[in-house]
Amino acid sequence: MPEFGDHEAGDDPVQILRHSTAHLLAAAVTELYPDAKYAIGPAIENPPGFYYDFDFGRPISEADLPAIESRMRKLAQADIPFVHETLPREEAIAEFRKRGQDFKLELIADKVGGDGVSVYRTGDFLDLCLGPHVRSTRDLKAFKLQRVSGAYWRGDEKRPQLTRIYGTAWQTPKELDEYLKFLEEAEKRDHKKLGKDLKLFAVDDRVGPGLPLWLPDGATIRRELERFIVDEELARGYKHVRTPDVARLDLYRQSGHAQLYAEYMYPPMKFEDGEELELRPVNCPHHIVIYQTELRSYRDLPLRIAEIGNNWRYERSGTLAGMNRVRSFALNDAHIFCTPEQLMDEVKGAIDLALYFSKVLGIDEFWYRLSTRDDVKEKWLGDEAQWQEAQAALAEALEAMGQTYQVGAGEAAFYGPKIDFQVYDAHRREFTNSTVQVDFQLPQRFDLEYVAEDGSRKRPVMVHRGAAGAMERLFSYLIERYAGAFPTWLHPTQVVVASVRDEFNDYADKVGAELRKARVRVEIDTRSERLDRKIRDAKTKKVPYIAVVGASEVETSSVNLNRRGGGQEKVPLDAFVQSITAEIAERRR
Ligand SMILES: [Zn+2]
Ligand SMILES: [Zn+2]
Repeated sequence: MPEFGDHEAGDDPVQILRHSTAHLLAAAVTELYPDAKYAIGPAIENPPGFYYDFDFGRPISEADLPAIESRMRKLAQADIPFVHETLPREEAIAEFRKRGQDFKLELIADKVGGDGVSVYRTGDFLDLCLGPHVRSTRDLKAFKLQRVSGAYWRGDEKRPQLTRIYGTAWQTPKELDEYLKFLEEAEKRDHKKLGKDLKLFAVDDRVGPGLPLWLPDGATIRRELERFIVDEELARGYKHVRTPDVARLDLYRQSGHAQLYAEYMYPPMKFEDGEELELRPVNCPHHIVIYQTELRSYRDLPLRIAEIGNNWRYERSGTLAGMNRVRSFALNDAHIFCTPEQLMDEVKGAIDLALYFSKVLGIDEFWYRLSTRDDVKEKWLGDEAQWQEAQAALAEALEAMGQTYQVGAGEAAFYGPKIDFQVYDAHRREFTNSTVQVDFQLPQRFDLEYVAEDGSRKRPVMVHRGAAGAMERLFSYLIERYAGAFPTWLHPTQVVVASVRDEFNDYADKVGAELRKARVRVEIDTRSERLDRKIRDAKTKKVPYIAVVGASEVETSSVNLNRRGGGQEKVPLDAFVQSITAEIAERRR
């Protein structure tokens, strides 16, 4: 019974350790800043560690953390026991009043029923807490304070703004070291940082948060991704279409989105004549309307309508992150209309396509979640039996393909269950990259039908599927996956041609022209810079090939190739053109 909400560690030893370190932090802070008031200090799972919120009465910064941390170490070495006591209510109030700890007094008033108040003492420090805790401060051997941010008391922006100090704590110094190294590496790979350094995308307040701008090099990568995706889908029998970003609000009333998905939708645009247009949160209704542009027969099915379509979803500004969480994104979307008999093959085909994209793009680590409905009846469209049928179909498809999965109850779409492909960013934060969903509801709501073999009218089943996910999210993933060193086929600059001296610039131009003729993306570096400078600049951009040209290359019609990741060799120009075009065409990693 967690009486103080987030101030409670459960019985996981690591969480207990982290929560105890939060107490140690508050103990150190109250020694160094006797006027500081401490609020709450839970252990947290992501990022792994803890925080404590304080009112310092004046601003403190990250520069103050080393002093606090060294006081924590001193207290840890002093071997001070964590002592649990249950104080009579009046005594607890008197203790916290004596210490001037108003936040704790408020918590006692609001959250503690009955007479006994559970507290923990470490030396002079006293905290309102249910525990459990480690035995002694001596058990806290591996911790580090990390950063400072703002937080409101009880998450309420009308209440005082507090200073939140974040830290991490581990059972051994070795674990702490490994974690800090991992963080350092993740920081280097962070797509927001690399996106800026490599000039791939920009976010500007004048355009708005969550509306990133694709710079030329980022747009090149996106174009390559889209070509790859569309070509593969066409080869697999999908029909690619183009539909508008807006539609009449009524369309989303019919689909149920206006009722069940409203929290993610933008307010409608209302016009004088009563017209109401809505930025689309999904592509499904548009594709349904395309299905209905003609009477379909069983011979037309399965009909796979695909589009890299822009969707608009309102995300609160606090949750936006670079390209990973945005307010408008282009989804690699498709809607498959099929007969119930074709359903299993279509689900399998969609999983197979997602697997193929993952393999080519280098998404090596992912797991499947079978997202099902829970018991909250108002959240879901349609009857239980259809849901069971659809859930069984998805599970069976995964099993038939030899894939294991976990069930996520309550994670389904409102119109049906789905398979989610869960992947991780550089910080090991999990997100859904693509989905396969079975839907019996929208065909009903839109009265979809096809002419069956016997001439009767029947209702098709619908599969919503994203195979490569949203372009923005996929891009953020790929930036972190490759730390900017994209495979040649994706890299915005595939080759830099660098002349050794100005006198070889003509030949550098000729090499560049040959490569461009073969549709290779080339930059020709004929600046009057030293060669090592040119090479260094190209390496900063993680360019796959640097072709150096000097006297001997001119003489033999060749290039001196400097490969990313090491290796240098002289190659005839025509052989290089041939090998790089093959590498690009095969989209080698
Ligand atoms: Zn505690
Ligand atoms: Zn859909």
